[in-house]
Amino acid sequence: MAQIIDGKEVARRVREGIAEETARLREQYGRPPGLAVVLVGDDPASAVYVRNKERAAQEVGFHSEVHRLPAETTQQALLQLLEQLNRADEIDGYLVQLPLPRHIDPQAVVRAISPEKDVDGLTPVQAGRLLLGEPGLRPCTPQGVMELLRSAGVDPDGKEAVVVGRSAIVGKPMAHLLLGAGATVTIAHSHTRKLEEVTRRADILVVAAGRAGLVGPEHVKPGAAVIDVGTNRGEDGKLKGDVRFSEVEPLAGCITPVPGGVGPMTIALLLRNCLEAMQWRSSASSKSPVS
Ligand code: NDP
Repeated sequence: MAQIIDGKEVARRVREGIAEETARLREQYGRPPGLAVVLVGDDPASAVYVRNKERAAQEVGFHSEVHRLPAETTQQALLQLLEQLNRADEIDGYLVQLPLPRHIDPQAVVRAISPEKDVDGLTPVQAGRLLLGEPGLRPCTPQGVMELLRSAGVDPDGKEAVVVGRSAIVGKPMAHLLLGAGATVTIAHSHTRKLEEVTRRADILVVAAGRAGLVGPEHVKPGAAVIDVGTNRGEDGKLKGDVRFSEVEPLAGCITPVPGGVGPMTIALLLRNCLEAMQWRSSASSKSPVS
């Protein structure tokens, strides 16, 4: 029987620490960290994610702003708002909720975000810092996975890790964080042949493919740590992971459920990134590691 990793509880502890640190920063600098979220259009799932981020930011005592723009907003108008947020003193970090309406180029939007306020860790500067192993703002979900592994007592150093998925927001940064922590890392994707042979090598298996039930017991080495990033909405409206939990759980060493695993960590790490962005911005040193 595997240890079930309780993402809700780990996330609660992270948020508790952030609330304490926020109170300290407010004393020191006379203001709390400021987080802004930009939502373009009326995608219902995005609206829920944004509301959750707003609520979480308020709960830890941040200054929180949400900019809700209509779907027909032009790219130019959006870029103008980002320019304002780049200059706004009370905003330490912000993100633009994806996906964007089709007429807006997401690459152009990401490039317009000031790297020092890039709390999603998606700008080329922050991605480059991760690649080089320099301090910086890392994408939230992969950082959340690292926290979950730590909470379960899994040290990646010297382990075989396999990441299924190679997106810029989950798979690739995940692989680099594991590499930085001393793991030997393989990245699998939709062109990988014999996926189960690759994943069976893993002491740590992180699945972020967005394919419900892709990974079963035939993919898993006994005793492995299995982290399921996938969130797939089933026809019954229920959230399903990429891992067939009930089949894999008996042979894994530890495993995250969906929901209640990786999901709650993402927002907690977003808050931590914003806090760090404020600390770096406010630090007396002009050599901010994130700018
Ligand atoms: P993407 O669709 O951008 O990437 C999916 C990746 O999985 C791609 O690299 C793709 O390969 C690979 N893939 C797809 N099918 C297979 C397959 N059959 N075998 C092996 N690899 C496959 O998704 P994201 O990275 O943005 O998200 C992944 C999942 O994580 C989604 O379910 C998403 O909802 C969830 N997610 C959850 C979060 C949370 O907070 N819990 C946060 C972010 C994401 P290729 O590149 O070749 O196409």
